[in-house]
Amino acid sequence: MTRYWDNKSETLARPALTALQAARLQATVDRVATHVPWYRERLAALDVRASNIRSTDDVRRLPFTTNADLRAQYPDGLLAVPRHQVLRLHTSSGTTGKPKAIHFSRQDVDNAAGLMARCLVMAGVTAADVVQNMMTYGLFTGALVMHYGAEKVGAMVIPAGPGNSERQLLLMQDFRTTALHVTPSYALYFAGYLASRGVDPRRDLALRRAFIGAEPYTEETRRKIEDQLGVRVFNSYGLSEMNGPGVAFECEHQHGMHLWEDHFLAEIVDPVSGEPLPDGTSGELVLTTLTREAMPLLRYRTRDITAFMPGLCACGRTHRRLQRITGRSDDMLIVRGVNLYPQQIERVLMATPGIGHNYLITLSGLDEMTIQVELAEAGFDGQVEHLVQLQARIAEKLRAEILVKPRVELVPPATLPVSEGKARRVIDQRQL
Ligand code: AMP
Ligand code: ZN
Repeated sequence: MTRYWDNKSETLARPALTALQAARLQATVDRVATHVPWYRERLAALDVRASNIRSTDDVRRLPFTTNADLRAQYPDGLLAVPRHQVLRLHTSSGTTGKPKAIHFSRQDVDNAAGLMARCLVMAGVTAADVVQNMMTYGLFTGALVMHYGAEKVGAMVIPAGPGNSERQLLLMQDFRTTALHVTPSYALYFAGYLASRGVDPRRDLALRRAFIGAEPYTEETRRKIEDQLGVRVFNSYGLSEMNGPGVAFECEHQHGMHLWEDHFLAEIVDPVSGEPLPDGTSGELVLTTLTREAMPLLRYRTRDITAFMPGLCACGRTHRRLQRITGRSDDMLIVRGVNLYPQQIERVLMATPGIGHNYLITLSGLDEMTIQVELAEAGFDGQVEHLVQLQARIAEKLRAEILVKPRVELVPPATLPVSEGKARRVIDQRQL
């Protein structure tokens, strides 16, 4: 039998859900028009008033908000409540320059935890679970939002943070951890660590589930992690601008991520033109917050590429499912005139036997692509010609997938750099 955290909201009939979205959209527009001068000016320029917003389609009349806008409005240009009503500050893991500041009111903090609780219960978590949170604590939303969501469900939370695999293992053994919250890159690295220590997770640990997100990963990687950690992997999607994790999450069917449409209004647009795309087409996800109080955002360009899945899910939830994020619109590489995404390379690598847990793509010179790939612990039998064959096989499979033949370098297990937060998969040193 399906378990829900918030039965009524999760199974709301579609017409009621759409009506709720429209009402909340209007309230959000009213809120920013009243309290955020930056939005007030933009809405006025488009001649849009809250009273014009009657249906969810009216979202198209609203202006986009971009990553650059958030940086330009740092630290509090988008704040919609008096400062004393801000309960918590997060910043987004920007790569360069100014961060993006995300403000939460008490209601926002509670909502974020409530949505996370929905996700966890949807994936089968109960108060009997022990959740080891291996995400970075601090300004990053990933760890804290999960932490409070899991506590809301009543699970025991171990705030382990990332890194220090020896201590992670000790905690898992001593406290019988049943669920992990972790990035795909660290999950893979940790699987390699267990193998190198002779730990068989099915025999020696109590792990049952892993909630994996924060960076794109492929279905092949999911299978590899499930196989090597002896867990079921649930895809977890979120971004700081929308509270952090808990925006969309997989249910027990592990087939697409239910997006909580009573809190976020989603559109899929053409990443270049910004024009809406027909249902089911892959494009850039654009999200409007429907319940955020301290910092509502209109039509935020996530730059994440995905599509809605057709049909209803067998779990009974009415909220539509997003496909796995296939990459970010700004992740795309152009190598020798060919457009490609790092995830295409990952898919090939993770489906190749003998390949280990980490890889690194380096672009150098005039469009040369080198892919360093770690071997599996048991991937090398001492015969050099086998390595040469494996190398050639990977290069050939990659050429078929991405139409560019890279140089492939096989390296020993656990020798490529591991980052504590999001993995850095591509180094671009081209002199073009
Ligand atoms: P941050 O704002 O630092 O939490 O980063 C959010 C970004 O991480 C998203 O916009 C996505 O690009 C990425 N991300 C988060 N979860 C996933 C996921 N499950 N699959 C793919 N990318 C993800
Ligand atoms: Zn479902």
